Amino acid sequence: MTHATAQTIFDLTAADIQPTLEFARWCDAHDPLAKFRDAFELPCGADGTPLAYMAGNSLGLMAKATRALIAEELDLWANHGAEGHVRGKRPWVEYHEHFRAGLAMLAGGMESEVVAMNTLTANLHFLMMSFYRPEGARRRILVERGAFPSDRFAVRSFVRAIGGDVERDIIEVAPREGDDCLRTIDILEAIAREGESLALVLLSGVQYYTGQVLEMARITSAAHAVGARSGWDLAHAIGNVELRLHDWGADFACWCSYKYLNGGPGAVAGAFIHERHHASPPPRLEGWWGTNSRTRFAMGPDFDPAPGADAWQVSNPPILSLAPLLASFEVFRAAGMGRLIAKARAMTGFIEIALRHRAPKRVHILTPSATSERGCQLSISVDSGDSAARALFDSLLPKGIVCDFRHPRVIRAAPAPLYTRFEDCWRLVDALS
Ligand SMILES: *Cc1c(COP(=O)(O)O)cnc(C)c1O
Repeated sequence: MTHATAQTIFDLTAADIQPTLEFARWCDAHDPLAKFRDAFELPCGADGTPLAYMAGNSLGLMAKATRALIAEELDLWANHGAEGHVRGKRPWVEYHEHFRAGLAMLAGGMESEVVAMNTLTANLHFLMMSFYRPEGARRRILVERGAFPSDRFAVRSFVRAIGGDVERDIIEVAPREGDDCLRTIDILEAIAREGESLALVLLSGVQYYTGQVLEMARITSAAHAVGARSGWDLAHAIGNVELRLHDWGADFACWCSYKYLNGGPGAVAGAFIHERHHASPPPRLEGWWGTNSRTRFAMGPDFDPAPGADAWQVSNPPILSLAPLLASFEVFRAAGMGRLIAKARAMTGFIEIALRHRAPKRVHILTPSATSERGCQLSISVDSGDSAARALFDSLLPKGIVCDFRHPRVIRAAPAPLYTRFEDCWRLVDALS
């Protein structure tokens, strides 16, 4: 091996990358984050060897510390019943508070701006109630034509539920004819064109199908420049790319926690509500868990809001579905988001270059090649007919490679840097070649 200059994967340059298994193994041996793989349970194939798991954008793997954290809460319940609300290591009345530091770090917000609550689509509805407030001529909401179906259903049903007109009030941006991805300029132009008719811009930080990272800071500023609000669905962004929601000035954001955050199936989701909306909040749908924890159990008739984003909570959270996140956040804290992003870039760069060497021309990557426009997901289009694409995808699992398939011919591979090895990336390339 000739890696005279690179000490670790963090100082590899494109010129260092070689499309070989030996190179992948060199990377794994020189990956300062490699040890974090041991913190996770690794699904294995029939032969007992770990699968090349690249579906962390769908369901992240389970941190080994998860079982003990859930067991702690089960024991508290078993041994103390309702007393568990106020005793034990993490009393349930304040359990959600243990997620603030991790969420603030991952979302780039202040601790008062983030809260773990509900599920993603539910949060979209709750936050639209607060931040999509059509008034007079300002009633349009800008979304993306290729949005994840749940977001589309949420927006359309919400517009209808408040008496709006789906055709009139929803504006869609889409990639240009022949393009795979959105262009920032087209989004900015649509915002400027709508101007005073625009109430809300609601987009995904990372597009689920293509893996494209949108320019969240610029789009947020453009929305504000025309007097609209800016909300983000960060399902594929949190734990994957750098987020600085507070500095960018986003009005709100929400995400699920079972993808890159490894919270487990149906995990409790999260939300961000910018500080500027805390003192005199917009209308919101309220419940008892949004009240001040000091007075909550006085059971008074008036809503005494908790400070910050906590006031948007409605119900007491499902403790057993929150516990796994504690384990995952600890690994994120120890690994560091900056290093994880650097590793993801090295892995996607390796896959891309190796695919270019090895794979036939009929395979192309939809995800933008600029590192600032991608996270760890690569969406690989198989351009030789839909059934050939499906057949190629179906050949992966028997080879121990877990990706997912999106109609009609896209294979999504997400080498999550917390637990994926370069050798796994190599296996993917080899299987596609
Ligand atoms: C995964 C995902 C969802 C899923 O919604 P749930 O409410 O968590 O079931 C919604 N929107 C986007 C963009 C997603 O990526």
